[in-house]
Amino acid sequence: MVRILRYFTRYVTAPLVLAMAGVVAFPALAQQSAALDPSAFRQCVADLRNKAAGEGISGSIISRAFDGIQPSPRVIELDRKQPEFMQTFWQYLDARATDTRIQRGREMLSVHGDLLREVEERYGVQARYLVAFWALESNFGDYTGDMDVIESLTTLACDQRRSRFFESELMHALSITDEGSMPVEMMEGSWAGAMGQSQFMPSTFVRYAIDFDRDGRRDLWRSLADVFASSANFLRSVGWRPGEEWGEEVILPDGFDYALADGSTDRTLSEWNRLGVRRANGERLPESEFSGPILLPGGHRAPAFLLYPNFKIIKRWNNSNLYAIAIGHLADRIVGRGPFVKSRPPGEEPLRRDEVEEIQRRLVMLGFDAGEPDGIVGPMTRSAARDFQRSVGMPADGHADTVLLERLRRASRS
Ligand code: CA
Repeated sequence: MVRILRYFTRYVTAPLVLAMAGVVAFPALAQQSAALDPSAFRQCVADLRNKAAGEGISGSIISRAFDGIQPSPRVIELDRKQPEFMQTFWQYLDARATDTRIQRGREMLSVHGDLLREVEERYGVQARYLVAFWALESNFGDYTGDMDVIESLTTLACDQRRSRFFESELMHALSITDEGSMPVEMMEGSWAGAMGQSQFMPSTFVRYAIDFDRDGRRDLWRSLADVFASSANFLRSVGWRPGEEWGEEVILPDGFDYALADGSTDRTLSEWNRLGVRRANGERLPESEFSGPILLPGGHRAPAFLLYPNFKIIKRWNNSNLYAIAIGHLADRIVGRGPFVKSRPPGEEPLRRDEVEEIQRRLVMLGFDAGEPDGIVGPMTRSAARDFQRSVGMPADGHADTVLLERLRRASRS
């Protein structure tokens, strides 16, 4: 399920995209034409109108939303698109925590300081994180998406692959316009329906958006007060711990057992200390019963991170380890903390999907259960890779990269 979400969130970084988990069925590409069949679409829209009426959406909104609506070929195309390459850790982070963005984040933290402090005081989410989410979701409000949300969601709701999830999102979108937060014709967002400067999906909007400036509308497109308060309200509601960090970069000692750094094995800071784990500046971790896992999101050649409970809360917004690290790192940089200490490995190449599939096939051939080859690295692939690496004396970080692929090719020949 996680791998499905990671595929999807590459294109839309929307809160609660993970809510799709139960209903997303991939990747029945054979149904390509079904969604665009005109008579099936008309019938689907008629059903959606009935459903909306049954949920109490006003008749005038239903007319304005659906009269003359057509499916969007662009939405279908974007929904079908598969990423060709798997981004590496550095590619992902470099594209998001840019120097320009860090600098602008500092300026925004200062320009909107009073508002951010007020929101932080009310919801307990530190201002630097609110700015980091704002930066990653819409580049400080620059890009909120210009697709017609009702048209996009109707297209996706009438596509057999995703219908239940997007039908529900569509009903939420209709209720947002029905409550007067935004005229139906002006509801714009991403192709998948994420809206405003925080790119909330409609269900997240309905549940968590806040009219912080008290003008009677929850406006995530134009009111920064509403944007910051809604983001903070979402984070706090799903368990944000005020005053705590997201995690930190750590240094692992030579000979460290990478199997422990799987992102889920919890140890106390004292235990990590005993295992030789050090802070990025070389100091010992505080002696503490506070516990957390270590994650190697880019394998042992990339930075290692000790994760604190707020890391999981960031992933409630977007269920991706790299996204959560980018948010945390950007928040840190905005308040003047330094870049990662681990340097970039030379000559690092991203894997293509077919190379990931080759890794999976070769692992299976050599007796390591990587599951059905699908070109997407998930927990089974990582676990099988780790077992293979251990069997040939490689560092067992479970990371799929070109080094692993080459080693597998050699092992297959011998
Ligand atoms: Ca408002």
